[in-house]
Amino acid sequence: MHQAPVVIVGSGIAGLWTALHAAPLPVVLLAGNSLGGDSSTGWAQGGIAAALGEDDSPALHAEDTVAAGAGLADEAAAWLLAEAAPDEIRALEDLGVSFDRLADGRWALSREAAHSRARVARVGGDRAGQAILDALTAAARATTHIEIREGWFGRGLLQRGNHGCRGVLAQDTSGNRQEIPARASVVATGGLGGLYATTTNPAGNRGQALAWAARLGAFIRDPEFVQFHPTAIDIGRDPAPLATEALRGDGAVLVDRHGRRFMPDFHPDAELAPRDVVARAVHQQVQSGSGAFLDAVGAVGEQFPGRFPTVFDSCMAAGIDPRVQPIPVAPAEHYHMGGVATDSDGFSEIPGLYVIGEAGCTGVHGANRLASNSLLDALVTGGRAARRIRDTESNLHLARGPAEKPEPALSGRPMRELRQAMTRHAGVERSAEGLESLVELIGAMTAEHGPADALVAARFVAAGALLREESRGAHARVDFPGQTAPVTHTELNLERLEQMLPSERRKRGAA
Ligand SMILES: Cc1cc2nc3c(=O)[nH]c(=O)nc-3n(C[C@H](O)[C@H](O)[C@H](O)COP(=O)(O)OP(=O)(O)OC[C@H]3O[C@@H](n4cnc5c(N)ncnc54)[C@H](O)[C@@H]3O)c2cc1C
Repeated sequence: MHQAPVVIVGSGIAGLWTALHAAPLPVVLLAGNSLGGDSSTGWAQGGIAAALGEDDSPALHAEDTVAAGAGLADEAAAWLLAEAAPDEIRALEDLGVSFDRLADGRWALSREAAHSRARVARVGGDRAGQAILDALTAAARATTHIEIREGWFGRGLLQRGNHGCRGVLAQDTSGNRQEIPARASVVATGGLGGLYATTTNPAGNRGQALAWAARLGAFIRDPEFVQFHPTAIDIGRDPAPLATEALRGDGAVLVDRHGRRFMPDFHPDAELAPRDVVARAVHQQVQSGSGAFLDAVGAVGEQFPGRFPTVFDSCMAAGIDPRVQPIPVAPAEHYHMGGVATDSDGFSEIPGLYVIGEAGCTGVHGANRLASNSLLDALVTGGRAARRIRDTESNLHLARGPAEKPEPALSGRPMRELRQAMTRHAGVERSAEGLESLVELIGAMTAEHGPADALVAARFVAAGALLREESRGAHARVDFPGQTAPVTHTELNLERLEQMLPSERRKRGAA
C-alpha cells in the first residue's frame, strides 16, 4: 500500500536531522531555495555544547542551562539535553564532522559565557555550522528514503477537521502549488530574526512557523524571549555578521571609543557575563554615544586568520583588520527562545504536527539560551521526533479538507517598516509605551495587508512582551526592572491574543 510521507519543511540542522532519523519512513523534504541554504545552521560559529571535558559532566551542563534560563528553563528538558549531548557529537563525527582536537587527541573545547566549564565542541575554529551542514546535506543526498525538493517552499499547513494537521501546502519558485498529505508534518523553518532590522539571521527566518501552527490552534510559548547577540559586527550589513562569543572566551575585551573597558562596571564576570547582560551593556554604550568595540588585539592578534577565519574575513571585507584594530559591535537579534509550544519530542499537541529546532519551544532554554545549546536542541528534539513519528500509527493524510490558499506575504516598504519598529520597540530594552505603539502598528498593517505570516509572528512577540510586566532573562522592561513571582510561562494562541492585549481591551472599552 502507498505509504504517506513524513513532510518536513526547512533544511537546517533540525529538518535534516529529523529527516535522516525518520528512516525507513519515506520523507519529503521541502528545502526552500537549496538544501541547507539560507539557514542559521550554516552560519553557526561557536559550535555545540556537550560535557566532553574531563572536569565536566552532563549534570553541570544541565545546571548551567537551567541557571541561564532565569527561572523558566524546564529542568527535565535540560537534563535530557545535557545527557544526550556527547552521543550527538559522536553521531555527527560518524557522519564525517571533524571536531577540533588537541595534539594529544583530547577535545579542543571553547569556554563561552555562563558555562562553568570549557564545553563547546568546535570545528576549524569558527566554522562549526558550515561543517555540520556539509555533512548533513551529503548524508541526506546519499540516502534513498528522503525526496529532496529544492526550489520548493512550505506556504502553510493543511487543517484536518477541527483539530489536526493533514499535511503541508507547498509552492515552487514558479508559483505552482501542491497540497502534500502527510503521515506527520514537521516544521523546521528556524527563528524570527528577519522580523528585526538588525539581526544575525538569514532574511527568510521570519517566524512563519508561529503563524502556521497558531492557525491550526497551537499555542505559542514565551514569544517575548528573544536573544540579542551582544557582538554583531557593526558595519551596516544586513544581516549583520557575527563576532563569536568564543573571542571573549579567549580573552577579547569590550571597550568604548576611548579604549576603556566597560564590562567590569556592569557585572563581576565582565565580558563572560550572561549574554543578555552583555547585550544590554553594549546597547547602552551605543545609545549613549560612547561606542562599543571588541578588542582582540592582545588576546588573539596575529592568530586571528587561523583561529577565527570567518570573523576575520567579515572584518577585512569591511576594511577592519582585527589583528591590530578593535571591531565595532552592536547587539543584534540572534535567537528565539520562544516558539510553537511542544513537548520534548517536538510534538505540538496538534495531531500530526511537530515543530523542531528554533521554530519550536520545548521550554529548555527558558528566558535565556545558554550559548551553543541551540544546535544541540535541534539534534536532540529532531531525533526524538523522528522516533515518535516512526512509532505512531497515522491516518491523518486520509482526511479531506477545503483547498487551502496561502496568506499574502509582506515585502518591500511595509516589511522594512515592521523590522524597524520591532528593533525599536521589541528589542534589547522594551516599555509599555513602545510595545503598545508596536501592537497598534501591527494592527494597522494587518488591516491594510492582511494577516501575513510576518505580522502574525510579530504580534505574538509584541503581545508576549507587553503582557510580561517584569524583566527576566533576555526580556528587559525599562518600566518593570524587577522580577515577579510566581514564575510563569506565557502561553498564547490566536484566540487569547485577541482577548488579552491590554491596548485592544482599552480600545474595545472606549468604543
Ligand atoms: C550567525 C549565527 C551564529 C550562531 N552560532 C551558533 C553556535 O555556535 N552554536 C549554536 O548552538 N547555535 C548557534 N546559532 C543558532 C543556531 O545556528 C540556530 O538556532 C540553529 O541553526 C537553528 O536551526 P534550525 O534548523 O531550527 O533553523 P535554520 O538553520 O535557520 O534552518 C531553517 C531552514 O528552513 C528554511 N525555510 C524557512 N522557511 C521555509 C519555507 N517556508 N519553506 C522551506 N524552507 C524554509 C530556511 O531557508 C533554512 O534553510 C547561531 C545562529 C546564527 C545566526
